[in-house]
Amino acid sequence: MAKGIFPVEKLAAIQTPFYYYDTELLRQTLRTINDEASKHEGFVVHYAVKANANPRILRIIREAGLGADCVSGGEIEASIKAGFPCSKIVYAGVGKSDWEINLGLDQDIFCFNVESIPELKVIDELASAKGKVARVAFRLNPNVGAHTHANITTGLAENKFGIAMQDMIPVIEEAQKMNNVKFVGLHFHIGSQILDMGDFEALCNRVNELQDELERHRIRVEHINVGGGLGIDYGHPNRVPLPDFKSYFDTYARKLKLRNGQTLHFELGRAVVAQCGSLITRTLYIKEGAVKKFAIVDAGFTDLIRPALYQAYHKIENISSDEPAEAYDVVGPICESTDVFAKQIDINRAKRGDLLAIRSAGAYGEIMASQYNCRKLPLGYMSDEI
Ligand SMILES: *Cc1c(COP(=O)(O)O)cnc(C)c1O
Repeated sequence: MAKGIFPVEKLAAIQTPFYYYDTELLRQTLRTINDEASKHEGFVVHYAVKANANPRILRIIREAGLGADCVSGGEIEASIKAGFPCSKIVYAGVGKSDWEINLGLDQDIFCFNVESIPELKVIDELASAKGKVARVAFRLNPNVGAHTHANITTGLAENKFGIAMQDMIPVIEEAQKMNNVKFVGLHFHIGSQILDMGDFEALCNRVNELQDELERHRIRVEHINVGGGLGIDYGHPNRVPLPDFKSYFDTYARKLKLRNGQTLHFELGRAVVAQCGSLITRTLYIKEGAVKKFAIVDAGFTDLIRPALYQAYHKIENISSDEPAEAYDVVGPICESTDVFAKQIDINRAKRGDLLAIRSAGAYGEIMASQYNCRKLPLGYMSDEI
């Protein structure tokens, strides 16, 4: 029996909870990204590894030709292992430690996205010790809000990320005095799960202003990196499995004024992998509470923390049942009241043993799993491998 995209009998043989990835959808998503980005000259797409670093997922993304955007030494290692060329690896993060910077230098990565002057000095020193020149871009805080959850906006002056705009010129001039760093680009990232193209337009306007200022100071920039943040439709994973890449890239093509020879880099995470992944969990018990019914499942926030951390909505389906829908709170086994996937949602009537699919969980799911309560980390299975 298959229900929707799910080969239920095969899934039933696997120890739950686990992540199930539809590799066909992932490949289709990557084709769409490449098709839409390649319509515009100079557009270069990286994958934000932090969304999902499952080695098989990384390999498929590398095969599609995307670069890798890393935020730690561990991600750089995972990207290299998955075959990403170092010339396509960028490394961002507010707190890069020395071993991580040294790793990036040893591997001759494409670019360090630098977030402060003290960090720039350390990169210059470490590069000098190796007799190398590090390519650096500055991450600027554009003070552009994004219409998304407060915990995932990053481009406001109050956020910890990036260098303040008014410091842009002094920071670049500082870098130009150093012997072991080469200033090559500007970097931005305003937040995540952004569906309003107006937010990206606001970023474009800001970048245009900053580029005008650079021009007045006769400073040349090889590339502009606008980060990621494109959102997906959590409400309708079946009807809208692909994010609106066309509008996204078209917005940048229309609004951002690239200078001669400049490339425009993107770092998409969620939009690449979210819809292809589902967390598959088994119903352990149906508990009739005083006022409502609970479906108690074997996955918890240790497997998927987004609902507990961001009050995120994930569509849930009972893929073992065709019975009439009933309302349940779907809850996990962790000893915390926040271990709730959804409250009072309608799913096909559930019984012990039924498999539930928690949809749109391919991004910030498996990678954020923890071992709290001494639980085992969930494994990931690919649709073309089971
Ligand atoms: C998290 C992050 C991304 C990816 O964000 P998505 O919303 O998943 O696309 C891109 N760039 C940087 C610097 C990030 O921190």
